[in-house]
Amino acid sequence: MAVKGIPGRAVYLGTFIHSKSLEELEYLHNSAAFVDEKGAIVAIELDCDQKKAEEVLLPKLGWKKGEVTVNVAKPGQFYFPGFIDTHIHASQYPNAGIFGKSTLLDWLNTYTFPMEASLSNLTKANLVYSRVIQRTLSHGTTTASYYATIDVPATNLLADLCLSLGQRAFIGRCCMDTLSPDFYRDVSAASSLADTKATISHIASIDPTYALVSPIITPRFAPSCSSELMHSLGALQKETGLPIQTHISENKNEVKLVAEMFPDHASYTHVYDNHGLLGPKTILAHCVHLTEEEVDLIKLREAKISHCPASNSAITSGTAKVRWLLEKGIEIGLGTDMSGGYSPSILEAVRQASLVSRHVAMEGDEKTKLSMEEVLYLGTRGGAKVIGLEEKIGGFGVGMEWDAQLIGLGSVEENDFNGQLDMGAVDIFGWESWEERVAKWIYNGDDRNTLSVWVKGRLVHERKL
Ligand SMILES: [Zn+2]
Repeated sequence: MAVKGIPGRAVYLGTFIHSKSLEELEYLHNSAAFVDEKGAIVAIELDCDQKKAEEVLLPKLGWKKGEVTVNVAKPGQFYFPGFIDTHIHASQYPNAGIFGKSTLLDWLNTYTFPMEASLSNLTKANLVYSRVIQRTLSHGTTTASYYATIDVPATNLLADLCLSLGQRAFIGRCCMDTLSPDFYRDVSAASSLADTKATISHIASIDPTYALVSPIITPRFAPSCSSELMHSLGALQKETGLPIQTHISENKNEVKLVAEMFPDHASYTHVYDNHGLLGPKTILAHCVHLTEEEVDLIKLREAKISHCPASNSAITSGTAKVRWLLEKGIEIGLGTDMSGGYSPSILEAVRQASLVSRHVAMEGDEKTKLSMEEVLYLGTRGGAKVIGLEEKIGGFGVGMEWDAQLIGLGSVEENDFNGQLDMGAVDIFGWESWEERVAKWIYNGDDRNTLSVWVKGRLVHERKL
């Protein structure tokens, strides 16, 4: 078996499932993936059992048998690309599930700002951030685009922890210099910019090529940013080429507020565009109430969208029209938006994306329903495109990196109600097709089915059975 935390040459044997396109999942049975010590996939071989892998293919690669970890998936298990969470607030994790009947603006004041402010206590930040990384890894999230808080040392700590625990991550220090409580706001636009630069320098010092952990410029959302701050962050993006993440058009009262605060701009989307914040490296979370003109501008600028269905339902923001956005040709990924969203799991976001699309369909248009292939694409390859890593992650291919999860579903014979072997709520009877097994995983699976998780070839989570 592989040793947790130590990457090395490895071969993975068994069934591999990944998105070939938005509409199609590819099922590769009896196959092998060869991963080098840097975590890169150097070969994929179809029709390959362990004997062929060891006796024919290892010598071809110049690898010696004893130096390579051999991982064999059991029948019924499968390798799936690691999930990509394109929008998650690490600092809100302790509040997951706590939202009552609130909507966005009162939710922020009641639950969110006090929790985020409290994480300037580094002992508490260490506890919360360690836990959220371990928890999301255990649900198969190999990459997360995190919002931290305004606090520089705590934000830097989140980056340190992602690097040491092995999660691929984008780390954003929240910028917010206006319309926020006195106890939790940047003192000025200038200090917000300086503090952001401090976290960028720190991340560059711990991971100089951003191989695993990268900074991301994070204006919280237009209502909490002055025009001066947004202009300076837009200039910073131009200067550094770093990605940007923010929120947009989540809730109707928020859209109204932005119109009141920025009367000289044609729309919410124009506010970001006019401040240099809308470009190919921008991740826009929510996009629930956009007008067609705004969507066309997002497409024109090649900005990306993070769809957060669990959050949009939980705090009653609305139903994002994902089919419409896809048909406009915009790249879309999934976000948990924890703790607006109640769950740390992208599998839950996959499921909720499916259900929300059915709610949109109930408003009159059947074709808005998303298939299981489509929602899994959004959670993997779609997310990779949103964060600009589609060449590296989101699927299996030579030259890509081994960010993967091994999934095991419970069988009726093995699953034990007395807790000896708890494989979760999926019961496989044995007659299901592979497509049916995947469907059962989407709708009833959870972290009990996530047996092992790797990032860049490193084993970062393993379920002891
Ligand atoms: Zn959010």
